[in-house]
Amino acid sequence: MLKIDTILCRPGTMNNYAYLLTDQTSGISAVVDPSEPEPVICRCRELNITPAYILNTHHHFDHTDGNLELKKYFKAQIAGHAKDARRIPGIDILLNDGDTFALGDSQARIISVDGHTIGHILWYFAKDKALFTGDMLFNLCIGGLFEGTISQMWESICKINALPDDTLFYPGHEYTRHSAREALLFSNHSPEVTAYLEHARARLEQGLPAGPYTLGEEKKCNPYLSAGNEAEFARRLGC
Ligand SMILES: [Zn+2]
Repeated sequence: MLKIDTILCRPGTMNNYAYLLTDQTSGISAVVDPSEPEPVICRCRELNITPAYILNTHHHFDHTDGNLELKKYFKAQIAGHAKDARRIPGIDILLNDGDTFALGDSQARIISVDGHTIGHILWYFAKDKALFTGDMLFNLCIGGLFEGTISQMWESICKINALPDDTLFYPGHEYTRHSAREALLFSNHSPEVTAYLEHARARLEQGLPAGPYTLGEEKKCNPYLSAGNEAEFARRLGC
C-alpha cells in the first residue's frame, strides 16, 4: 500500500504540489516533483521520513528546483525520463515509456506523454490506483503546449482516457479555480461539473487541495479529456 502526503510548494504564486509517497510494506519513500526544498524537508522531519528517491514528471524548474538540495540532504536518487537526461538537475535513473519502477513493494509504470514537454512522463501506480500527472493533467484543464504538437498532446490524452476510471490523479499545480469557467462553458453547466466545483470549493475553503478526483470524474468534466477526437480537441485548445 502506498501512503500519499500532499505538500504545497510556492503557495500563492505557482501553487505547486509535491507529493511524498511511502510504500508502507518496506517503509521506502519518494518525493514527486519538489519545486523547492524547504517545505519538503519540513514535512519529512515532521513525519520522520528520509526519502530514497525523487521522482520527476518533467524538467521544468517549478518541478525540479528542489532536486539538488534534497538529493544532498537525503542522499536520494533522482529518476526521470531518459529524454530529460540533460535537463533534469541531478538525474541518476533514466526511464523510458513502459518501464516499471519499484518503490519497495509498490510498482509504478512509466507512461510517456509528450505535449507540455517532450519527455514528460506520468507515474502510474496501478495497484494503488494512483497517477501523478505533473503538468500533463490538472483538475478540469491540461498543461500548456510548450514543446510538442497538438497530435502528440491528443495521443497523450488518449493514453489517460484508456486508464481505469477509479484511478485517483494527483496534479502538479492547484489550478481548479482558474479552470472552472472554461469547464462550465464547455459542459453547458452540466450537473457533473457543477458538483465537481462544489466539492472543490468546499475543500479549498478548508485549505485542502481540491482533489484528488478520479479519472472517471475527470473524463466527464475536463473539456480536453472529453473532446472525443483530435479535431474537436484542437478546436477546444484554440478557444
Ligand atoms: Zn511544466
